[in-house]
Parts: sequence; structure tokens; C-alpha cells
Amino acid sequence: MNIIHRLALIASVGTLLFSQAATAAPYTMPVYVSAADVKADCDRMMNDLADAQAKLEAMPGTGGVALLPQLDAMYRRYEDTDGPMSLLTAVHPDKAIRDATEACDLRYQAFNSSFLQSTKVFALLKQVQPADDIDRRFLKDTIDAFTDAGAALPADKQKRAQDINNEISRLSQEFERVVREDKTRVAFTEAELNGVPPDVWKDAKRDEQGRYLLGMAYPTLGPVIERAVNPKSRERMWRAFQSRGGSVNLKTLTQLADLRREYAGLFGFDSYADFAERRRMAETAAEVQKFLGTVKDAVVKREVADITLLRTFMARDLKRPVAATKIERWDVAYYTEMARKAKFAVDEEEFRQYFPPDASVKFVFRLATRLFGVEFVPSPEPLWHADAHAFEVVDVATKKPLATLYVDLYPREDKFSHAAMWGFHNPSTLVGRLPAGGLVANLDRKGLTIDELKTLLHEFGHALHQVLSNTRYASQGGTNVQLDYVEAPSQMLEDWIYDPVVLAVFKDVCADCKPVPAALLAKADKARHFAKGIAVSRQHLYASYDLALHGKEPQDPLTLWARMEGATPLGYVEGSMLPASFGHIASGYAAGYYGYLWSLVMAEDLRTAFEGKKLSSEVGHRYRDTVLANGGQIAPKELVRQFLGRPTDSKAFFKSLNK
Ligand SMILES: [Zn+2]
Repeated sequence: MNIIHRLALIASVGTLLFSQAATAAPYTMPVYVSAADVKADCDRMMNDLADAQAKLEAMPGTGGVALLPQLDAMYRRYEDTDGPMSLLTAVHPDKAIRDATEACDLRYQAFNSSFLQSTKVFALLKQVQPADDIDRRFLKDTIDAFTDAGAALPADKQKRAQDINNEISRLSQEFERVVREDKTRVAFTEAELNGVPPDVWKDAKRDEQGRYLLGMAYPTLGPVIERAVNPKSRERMWRAFQSRGGSVNLKTLTQLADLRREYAGLFGFDSYADFAERRRMAETAAEVQKFLGTVKDAVVKREVADITLLRTFMARDLKRPVAATKIERWDVAYYTEMARKAKFAVDEEEFRQYFPPDASVKFVFRLATRLFGVEFVPSPEPLWHADAHAFEVVDVATKKPLATLYVDLYPREDKFSHAAMWGFHNPSTLVGRLPAGGLVANLDRKGLTIDELKTLLHEFGHALHQVLSNTRYASQGGTNVQLDYVEAPSQMLEDWIYDPVVLAVFKDVCADCKPVPAALLAKADKARHFAKGIAVSRQHLYASYDLALHGKEPQDPLTLWARMEGATPLGYVEGSMLPASFGHIASGYAAGYYGYLWSLVMAEDLRTAFEGKKLSSEVGHRYRDTVLANGGQIAPKELVRQFLGRPTDSKAFFKSLNK
């Protein structure tokens, strides 16, 4: 199963007043009991931002040294209110509150798209003389944000740019809402669930005929797709999952892609991908294509070999000749598991007994203590749900508070359905402001597989990037970095879990947890590269599809998908509509999905410094002080160079593709 790891970035970089009293108190979450509360808070934010804009525009036109800090203060004012709301939209159980937080975000986005066109502020910005490299980068990012919002466009195009931005914000919210509030249930008899562990379904609601009604949450979906012996059961579950979002979201996606193309056109670009990529490390869509081409070349044969192997297993299982065996999409996970078990004698499910979710969270915290010298202390804050917990992040050496982290781990109705980290409150050394982030997942309460532990560590990698950043400007704090770099710190940590020395840390946090047998871990380590051809090709397909959808020619999302997926060895399944739930491309990752693979190049290179010393506090502290502390205030390549002591390269990435 492909779990989409997800980081939700809030808004665009470089928004913008208000000096806050300089305090170094950790962040605490506002508590909203009604939609009216949310609206009242939102009204205050909107008033403050309007006042701030008026003050800025009344500044004398001599170019202000103070302009950058004032713009950042405006950004902080936005984050103070809309930041936590963006997280609550994804997790709050009360629909009225979720709807109110969404409405607030639309009001802010409308303000922002108008503010970023302020010709007065834009003119002031152009006179700023940056004092150092950090100011220079922030100034450039801010001028870029104004430029991309249309500050230099003629008035008629400015108006259209604002309208498009507002419509995009509304449509991407709508898209996400449809997926989040999806109520799809698939009915199965007990016999149809043969092979699926009873813990997965025995407590599920039943229909009038006594059939179990199973939803789309990962802890339910995964075991059915991977383990149901009856191919019809796998197919029904797979089709239901692939239909989420439906034709409503396909229509929304068409509108989004068209609006983005039109938006790019206002700036003289004929593709949104080129418009967007120029602010990212890749710089052009052609560069992304070139990169994706090299990835494809590296895995194309391997994908075919993987599929052939799975067909062999399927043929043997069904007692048919291989030539007469066609493997369907819903068979892939099932036969991958079967082949993995047969070749490596490892069963993912075996790990659940060793990785209880709470202990797993303590384990990743403990890793951060060993590597980076920080502790996570439970903080008794009232939160949105009993499953959500707050932790104060404390520096072990100085005992100073550094940040707040919120964790919300289990699936429930109407909750965001993937795994993601919201970096919703960013630090600023100018005012002693501490960061906060929210880690959201949908884990199995019974325990994690090693793959799910990897997902937790991935999101925790984003969380560390957020809570250990210590930047001058909040606008450049934490995960406010270039999109095709943002996945590097998270992906870097993913392979820590295959190291027995690392896993031994579990006993520090859970005396009752049985240690993972060395032999089982060794087998999982060998098995992890299995079927990599299929997995990497899938990421390549998603990235290429996103790029094509946001390319020069208008596309119907489903027709394009059917054509592109149809050209892969496993083909397209008539009736399926994956793009209807592809939240990344509906929102902030548009023309940016390739960033997962692009960031992986740097993630693999970063890992080389930890080779054979994954718990080294010396390397860890160097990493914390360079890569994590600087967020987006230093260019990614320069940060990686500072950390590694040499320029970054792609050797480790291509070596890993061939493992
Ligand atoms: Zn991620």
C-alpha cells in the first residue's frame, strides 16, 4: 500500500506586523468551543492585519531598515490565529469549528492576495538594503512573493490574479474536505475476510445482513488489501479506496489545473509548472523532467522484474501457468507480501507486538534526546480530542524550553486521513518566539509494523525540522523552505529503524516491550529493498502526472491519468480515479510532487554523515545546528554543504536505487 507521507505547508512564504512582547514562553494552543469563538478570533486577526497594512503604506518612502521585521511581525500575527486553525481544520471533531476555521483561512488568503499586490509596500521593499545574507534571502523571498502575487502586474491582471488566488484557496479546501469527510464503507461477510486478522474487522459496525462495514482508514484498508485471500474482496476494497473524492473532486481538480495555467499566463508563462518551479531548487520544469528521466532509467528494468516475480508467485498460488496469469493492481500488495514472506521469511504483521504506538512515540522522542539533546515533556494542555497530546520540547543541556509539539495518532471520523506535520507556528529570534508543530497520523492502536514506524519517524523528521529551528524570521522558520527540499530531513531519518543499535533504544522507554529479535530485524533489513522497482516507479508516475497536469496543455485529469497509468506495466483499471483523492496536487504540492524524489537525493546524502553512527550526538548536534536550526534562512545546498563539509551530490541516491 502506498501511504502518502504528507507535510502541509501553510500559505505562501513571505507574508507579513506587530511587535510582540519578547518572551520565550512555549506556545500553547487556543481552545475554541464554538464557531463563534473562531470567528471572533478571526475578526481580531483581520482587523490587526488591516491596521498593519495601513501603517506600512503610510511609511515614508525612504526605504525602511525596519520593513523586514515589520513584514515578519505581520506574518506572525497571521500565524497566531490562522496557524492553529489550519491544524484544527484537519483534526477537530466538531464540523462547525472545522468549517469556521476554513472560512477564516479564506478571509486571510483574500487579504494576503490583495496585500501582496500593494504597490506602496512593493516599492518600499525594493529600497531595502539587506544587512547580511539572512536579510538578503528573506528580502528576495518576500520580493518573489509580491511578484508572484502580481504586485508588478497591470491593474486588470492584478484583479484577475486576486480572483484566481481566492478561487484556488476555496477549491483546494473543498477538495480536501470531500476526502476528509468521506464516509465510504465496504460490506464484507466473515468468509470474504478470510486472511485478514480478526482484530481489524471484528468490532466494525454491521449492516442488516450482518456484514462487516469497513472504512478507508489505513489500519483497516492496509490489512484487507495485503491479506484478504479472496481477490474479489481485495478488488472491492481497492476500488472503493481509488474512488474516494469521486467525480466531484475530478471536476474540482480540472478547475484547479485550469486556474493555475491561467494564473501562470498572467505572468507570461505558458505552464504553471515553469511558473512554480522557478522558485524551487529545480528552477525549471525541464530540469525536473530531466531528473525524473534519470530516476526512471535507473528503475525501469527493476520494475518489470518485480512484476514478473509477483506474477510467478501468483501463478503458483493459483496453480496456473505464468503466461496465463495477469496481475491486477489489487493483487500487487497481496503478492508483494506473499513474495516477501517467501523470500525473506519476514511478515510485517509480526512487528506489531514489538511496537505499541505510545512506546513508539516515546522511542522516536528518545532518539531525538540521544542525537540532538532535547527532551519531550508531556504538557497538560486542553486539546481538541482525548487522543491528542501536547509536549514541551526542552533542551537537555540548558533546561530551556524550545518548542511545543502536538501529537494526534489514531484514525477517527472526519479526521485528515494521511500522515502529516503542520508547522503552524514558527520561531523568531527577534522576539524570542518559540515554534510549534502538529504531528498527525492514522496508526493502528494495536501496534505498528516496521513500515508504519518508518512513517512515524518520517513525520517526526518534519516535526524536528519545525521544533528545532531557531531562525531570525518566522517566515523562514522550520519547514518554510523550498518545497523540493522540505522532504529531506524527514526522509533522512526513515532508515534509522533498521539499525539494531537504534532499535535497542526502545528498552530505554518501554521496560515491558519485548525487544525485536535480531534475526527478525535482519530479515526486515534485507527485505526493505524488495519491490523497490514498483515503489519508485509509482513515485515517478505521481510526479510525472502532477507535472503533466500542470503543463502547457489543458488536461482532463482522469483522461490524463488513465493514459499515463495505462502506459505502465500494470496498466490502468477502468473505473478507478486516483486523482480524485490526490490531495497533494490539489493543494500546496501542485507541480511539486517530484519534491519527494528530489529531496531524497539530499536525504540520502545527509545520511552518509551518520553511517555506522546513527546515535552519534556529535554528528546529531552538528545536524541540529546547521540543517535544522536554520530552517529556510540559508539555501538548502549551502546548509547541506555546511553539515557534510563538502558539496552535496547524488551518489548515495543512485547507489540506494540500485540496492
Ligand atoms: Zn513528508
